[in-house]
Amino acid sequence: MKITFWGAAQTVTGSKHLIQSEGYNLLLDCGFYQGDRVVADQLNRNLPFRAEQIDAVILSHAHLDHCGTLPVMIRDGFKGRIYCTGATAEIARFILLNSAAIQKSDCDYHNAHIRNNGQALITPFYTIEDVEKVVKRFQTVPYFSKSNKWTDLNGNIRFKFYDAGHILGSAVTVLEIKENGIVKTMAYTGDLGRDDLPILRSPEIIQENVPTLLMECTYGGRIHRPVAEVIEQLKNIVNGAVRTKSRIIVPAFSLGRIQELIYILHNLTDQKAIPPLPIYVDSPLADDITKVFSHSTEYFDDQFWKDFGNEGEAPFSFINLINVRSVEESKALNNMKIPFMVIAASGMAEGGRILHHLKKNVGDPNNIILITGYQAEHTLGRKILEGVTPIRIYGDLYDVRAKIIVLNELSAHADQNDLLAYAGHTSGLINLFLVHNELPQALAFKKRAESSFAEVHIDIPAMGKSVEF
Ligand SMILES: [Zn+2]
Repeated sequence: MKITFWGAAQTVTGSKHLIQSEGYNLLLDCGFYQGDRVVADQLNRNLPFRAEQIDAVILSHAHLDHCGTLPVMIRDGFKGRIYCTGATAEIARFILLNSAAIQKSDCDYHNAHIRNNGQALITPFYTIEDVEKVVKRFQTVPYFSKSNKWTDLNGNIRFKFYDAGHILGSAVTVLEIKENGIVKTMAYTGDLGRDDLPILRSPEIIQENVPTLLMECTYGGRIHRPVAEVIEQLKNIVNGAVRTKSRIIVPAFSLGRIQELIYILHNLTDQKAIPPLPIYVDSPLADDITKVFSHSTEYFDDQFWKDFGNEGEAPFSFINLINVRSVEESKALNNMKIPFMVIAASGMAEGGRILHHLKKNVGDPNNIILITGYQAEHTLGRKILEGVTPIRIYGDLYDVRAKIIVLNELSAHADQNDLLAYAGHTSGLINLFLVHNELPQALAFKKRAESSFAEVHIDIPAMGKSVEF
């Protein structure tokens, strides 16, 4: 068995891990690279392997950095199936359609502006038609806890899914690979969630003996605050903003973070812990995904049933929550004279409607920019987080005078303690590969893990590195 780390290797985006065994080529995730635009163009346009030689893909979850280059696979000749949970299949379609639409509008904008200066026209990585071809390849597989069945790939390789507790439908994959009559077991966490996040269940512990584990390590050097403290802080921010008549501008991921925020704000409103401030969710993509959440309550945790489910209450709608679909409605928000909160994508402020809200509001010291998620290197969100001013939006410079508040402990990723516990619960571990991380986070985790698991070999593979077992 050979594993090659083709993405999310010493970086947090572009997840792609190739497993090769006796002529069978299995790809774990096929994610979009997000970050530096020149590098992103290179990595997202050209796959580092021959797509037609890949036999199957297992998709851990529907975040773009895990599913975003599946259409490039199809375009380049991949003929196999893409295995994922039912919720992942539904959500990934929306994520990929949105990605294709953004690529088209970015290309149209770029091409319209370079028409007269001799630069080459650019084309999208893929189109809406390519995405629909991906959707036809999805083969849905339930969590093992529901089906009690492994899924066979070729007679020698089979896999099962555990709930990763990261976003709706996210899965940890355990693979059994038979070579020369010997079964080798390995697991890939995809992205791992946390125990106390709202809505979703905690990550399930792997029951098999797993000598080889590919584990995400996004927050390997950090300890998150308890979610209860974050909810308290959100409550205080909203109450403070109402007193100072501030606007709260919230860049948030359409998948996961927006639904969590709606859920928490709904609870706080029901408890009369916050006044009924108008809360606008300005993301048609998030609205589509929230609809998938609304019919997927079988994935939800016990707390959901206590908060809403047992009463038959819909968790994602309440009186002062307004979904904004049209561009006109979105623009009209900026004429409002009363304080409000607007939650919009993209979560790292790299595109989407959040840019218009930032343009209008970032210069006013009375306003609040509330950062609610991970901000990758080179993104606009990271610059805002690091206090860069002025910032560039659509070619123009804007001074940042608004108050920046970071609430990213709502992260859907495990922290150092969670990761240490997860690896510790994995029996038979010999080789631990830390993927999906920036190097300082992985090194901090490695240092702590080495003192806990002296017998485990811990590696932080670089992009393109291969290992054989
Ligand atoms: Zn993820």
